[in-house]
Amino acid sequence: MGIIVCTADLFSEHVERLASAGHEVRRSNEATLDSLKPLLADADAIICLLTHTINRQLLDAAPHVRVIANVAVGYENIDVPSAKERGIIVTNTPDVLTESTADHTFALLLAAARRIPEADAATRNGEFPPWRLQQPLTGTDVHGKTLGIVGMGRIGAAVARRGHHGFGMPILYRSRTRKPDLENELGAQPVSFEDLLAESDFVSVHVPSTSETHHLFHAGTFAQMRPSAILINVARGTIIDEAALVQALRNQTIAGAGLDVFEHEPRIHPELLALHDRVVLAPHLGSATVETRTAMGDMAVSNVLAVLEGNPPLTPVI
Ligand code: NAP
Repeated sequence: MGIIVCTADLFSEHVERLASAGHEVRRSNEATLDSLKPLLADADAIICLLTHTINRQLLDAAPHVRVIANVAVGYENIDVPSAKERGIIVTNTPDVLTESTADHTFALLLAAARRIPEADAATRNGEFPPWRLQQPLTGTDVHGKTLGIVGMGRIGAAVARRGHHGFGMPILYRSRTRKPDLENELGAQPVSFEDLLAESDFVSVHVPSTSETHHLFHAGTFAQMRPSAILINVARGTIIDEAALVQALRNQTIAGAGLDVFEHEPRIHPELLALHDRVVLAPHLGSATVETRTAMGDMAVSNVLAVLEGNPPLTPVI
């Protein structure tokens, strides 16, 4: 029997799975060092969320932990090298969230292009203009437009498939390595970052948050994009210099944005909140469907059970 400290708000079925395997589950609504220290001293495993920082000090307070299961695919909240030094396995939840996150990416893309939140607000406000060729809320086409994918991994590829098969969009991509299968399947073209910026009508960001991708999008990048371009970010807020994005939207250097993630979550640049034209915001909901969140919890639990039973984890990050 092991002791599992759980800062993630797992569904009851997940907790029951852990308990029925004979483990003690210690739940905590907080993930601060002070609140966790007494729980961690004899713990064998941690199940946490991407908003919970698992740093060196916290690991020092958890001398017996063998596995940390992050209920997310990104894991920049965990000091992975320090965990590795201590022989702790870190796991994440890839694949199970790919399609839902790609759906959400396309929802933001369509909403920004066709100005759905603006239209919804106007309609509820009693503003129903007469049908005219030149409507105030006229948007831009999605079908047939060029979609640029930055980071052609699992989610990037799922977004590219939706663009190609659903909307007949030519696909450009920039990744660290070529993807010959996707080039064959989707006609996706590998291009330089500069060419992707210059030639895409929609730029969709799917790289992880790393020191290399920090502020990958800044004032100089926006200047290379089309004035009609719409930027979509369902990856991580740190990839975009949010103050520079505000300026680019205000100056109409680019036309719009669909954003699920923010540089200083949960804070959002106040001027970004004040921009409505072709700007659509969501509070980090990429994987937020009941089915996907359940599957993410299942995967985290399976990882912990595997390691505590002496088996290899399903989805280790190292
Ligand atoms: P993934 O399969 O690892 O894909 C990431 C891709 O980024 C990889 O294909 C990698 O390229 C590429 N990449 C990494 N560094 C790069 C760089 N410096 N320049 C260009 N390309 C680079 O991960 P995923 O499952 O698609 O998830 C992607 C990210 O989405 C996660 O890290 C997470 O932060 C975010 N996410 C957000 C939500 C949400 O709720 N908003 C939900 C799920 C995921 P190569 O393959 O060429 O090496």
